[in-house]
Amino acid sequence: MTDILDHYIDGAATAPQSKAYVDAFDPRTGKVSARVAGGTAADVDAAVRSAAAALPAWRARRPIERGRILNAIAQALRAESASLSALERRDTGKPAWQAPLEIEGAAQYFEFYAGLVNLYQGEKIDLGAGYHSYTSREPFGVVGVITPWNAPLNQAARAVAPALAAGNTVVLKPSEFTSGTSVALARIAVACGLPAGVLNVVLGTGPDCGTAVVSHPLVRKVAFTGSVRAGREIGRIAAERIIPLTLELGGKSPNIIFADADLGQAIPGAVRAFVVNAGQVCLAGSRLLVEQSIHQTVVDGLKQALAAVKVGPADDAMVGPLTTQAQYERVKAWFDAARAEGLEPVVGGTVLDPEACGGGWFVQPTVYDGVTNDMRIAREEVFGPVLSVIPFADEAEAIAIANDTDYGLAAGIWTQNLSRAHRVAAALEAGQVYVNEYQAGGVETPLGGFKMSGYGREKGIEALHHYTQLKCVTIKL
Ligand code: NAD
Repeated sequence: MTDILDHYIDGAATAPQSKAYVDAFDPRTGKVSARVAGGTAADVDAAVRSAAAALPAWRARRPIERGRILNAIAQALRAESASLSALERRDTGKPAWQAPLEIEGAAQYFEFYAGLVNLYQGEKIDLGAGYHSYTSREPFGVVGVITPWNAPLNQAARAVAPALAAGNTVVLKPSEFTSGTSVALARIAVACGLPAGVLNVVLGTGPDCGTAVVSHPLVRKVAFTGSVRAGREIGRIAAERIIPLTLELGGKSPNIIFADADLGQAIPGAVRAFVVNAGQVCLAGSRLLVEQSIHQTVVDGLKQALAAVKVGPADDAMVGPLTTQAQYERVKAWFDAARAEGLEPVVGGTVLDPEACGGGWFVQPTVYDGVTNDMRIAREEVFGPVLSVIPFADEAEAIAIANDTDYGLAAGIWTQNLSRAHRVAAALEAGQVYVNEYQAGGVETPLGGFKMSGYGREKGIEALHHYTQLKCVTIKL
């Protein structure tokens, strides 16, 4: 049955004023699974006004009370994990093992900021006798949060939890392809005692609904996760309005295997780094830099490891489909683009026969060997399970290739040499560096980009700096 998804405004499901809905699809079958409210500026205005009205009471609450509600939300997300996982799987196609982990991650964001907000204080500044000076951290007001389709609930929680903890109210605009769990989050939050209007969800496309969030005069800060293209458009509006912006954009992250690495760890780690979520991960380790002396061993190891990676609609699959048809078409086009650059895949390079896999948008994990860093496939984000293997001669060349990119989101290092690990980590231009485990970390570790991967930070204590503004008060005694 096709689900009808409405906005969630002022504590209630709310139909779009335009009465228009857009289709969302189940990527495992390619069939319509939901009709999603086609929000416009009028709906966004209602949501922002509700958030503005809820602001004074919410920000006036003692942090421990805000934290109590956030903790309740964390527990409720865990209690509803099975139904939320099913919803997330319907919208994104995530395999059975993965969706519950992302729901748990979402719960942890609420839990982490629920506790942290009690310790998040200003400072006393010593001006000598005769003055009392201190800083306080204040919420911005109404925060707009815009999220993509690759980890919908997790990415919503990553921004919503610290924003609410710090005393802001929020208007969340999820991707029009994957709106289900964001609406569920707002419903759950209200059931946990979050006052109506503190978290509103508006649905619809970027141009019709997302732009209206960024442009609304009462929205005082925006947190955006998505493509460089949309980030740029949002950045222009934010610059015009002089409001702060967090941008979490794309990546073309290097994952570097040195000859002294433990290959028993590094090879499966390199596989996970590009196949999890069918490669639709901004942090994906999509350029595998391999020291020449172990190059063939690593390529053989990748082939062997990937032979055991199950792709498809089955419950025990490790890799699911691409989440949107447009993304499926883009990845297929990359297979042609690689061939045009003279590359033949050593693994994959095809889609799964749609007739044999229920009509879903599945592609085989794909490895290209002998890639050079000037090729398009090494420079542009594919956002699919496609790996470019790039050999290097020595540490200096590895660093040079790793940094020769417009992006700077993440980087991996595999080595048993502690000095090298620190040296290379210091030299890499990336917001996250992982040593001997790709994507190591959790809700506690800050996330964000260098270069075209964005600015501002999510996660960790750091995120609270980006959801608060500093006030300094100085009194002559
Ligand atoms: P997208 O930029 O097309 O859309 C992201 C969100 O922005 C959606 O909600 C969309 O409706 C909205 N949007 C689109 N255009 C807009 C506009 N002009 N104004 C306001 N809102 C607009 O991205 P996508 O295709 O959904 O996601 C894939 C991209 O996101 C990839 O490039 C990926 O690297 C990036 N991403 C980054 C991170 C990160 O944390 N750095 C995480 C996930 C995805």
